[in-house]
Amino acid sequence: MAGEEAFSPPGSELNLTMRVMVTGAAGFLGSHLTDRLLSEGHEVLGVDNLSTGDAENLAHLRGEKRFAFEKWDICRPFDFGRVDYVFNMASPASPPEYLRLGIETLRVGSAGTENTLEIAHKYGAVYLHASTSECYGDPLEHPQKETYWGHVNPVGPRSVYDEAKRYAEALVMAYYRSRGVNTHLVRIFNTYGPRLHPSDGRVISNFMMQALEGTPLTVYGDGNQTRSFCYVDDLIDGIVRLARSGEHLPVNMGNPKEFTILECAREVLAVTGSRSELRFEPLPVDDPARRRPDIAKARALLGWEPKIQLREGLERSLEFFRSRANQGH
Ligand code: UDP
Repeated sequence: MAGEEAFSPPGSELNLTMRVMVTGAAGFLGSHLTDRLLSEGHEVLGVDNLSTGDAENLAHLRGEKRFAFEKWDICRPFDFGRVDYVFNMASPASPPEYLRLGIETLRVGSAGTENTLEIAHKYGAVYLHASTSECYGDPLEHPQKETYWGHVNPVGPRSVYDEAKRYAEALVMAYYRSRGVNTHLVRIFNTYGPRLHPSDGRVISNFMMQALEGTPLTVYGDGNQTRSFCYVDDLIDGIVRLARSGEHLPVNMGNPKEFTILECAREVLAVTGSRSELRFEPLPVDDPARRRPDIAKARALLGWEPKIQLREGLERSLEFFRSRANQGH
């Protein structure tokens, strides 16, 4: 199957090192993916304009000879030389950030994604695009399977993200169908772990920081909306498996265990030992009521499923958030 050869093409056992481009390398997922690829012995070219990424996420790689970094906005055409793989992880991703950077979010999903696909086409590189459960919008089908087309408000505040990601999926499929690029699409559900930016406004980072700082946990709405939280190492493992597969249609990745936001708050309080209270605030517009991935496809195709459950993942993240709380972020 095309793509199965991935990181070790047949006949090239003596040359296992691939040159891999990771866009959004300074972001939460991009930096973890970079670490994983380097640990496998590959060369990584990280590209990021640092609009929401944080150079601190790559600081430990200073002096690493197999890692290079280009500060670049992928919406502008570029060519940093031959690559064997492209992982397109670049985009603002937390609701407050993509609401603040609406036009930039639309551009990185369209022009930026097209520029990365052109690179994959030029060099015959394998291509993986980081898509999102937001493609399903506020879903009417539960849990969400890849075959569900979604329930998306095309003009609401979140549309800048949802429609950028949906357009990007269409673009990736067009490069697969019309240009023969070996593409992969992962639909990523809520993911957390160290390096989730303490002030990017997501629920786990907000709750962890609030709990550690002893301020109230801000629950939006009544807290009965649900999310399913995947620990970052599990997700990165799934992404690498997908890049090595022959699958071109979207694959969900996330942890199928579903929590209400109130349950999530209780988990955070238990792990941090905090006595913070809950403070109820208005629910953001079009905030999805329920979200849970159906991961049967990833299980069958890739033998993948998450191993780390929320309590353990929060424990593994504690040191990171504690150090940021001590620094006053
Ligand atoms: N949320 C919350 N308090 C916060 C941040 C988020 O109650 O401080 C809620 C938010 O309304 C949503 C869920 O937690 O229902 C997950 O939000 P997040 O921004 O982490 O990601 P989303 O899944 O909405 O992209």
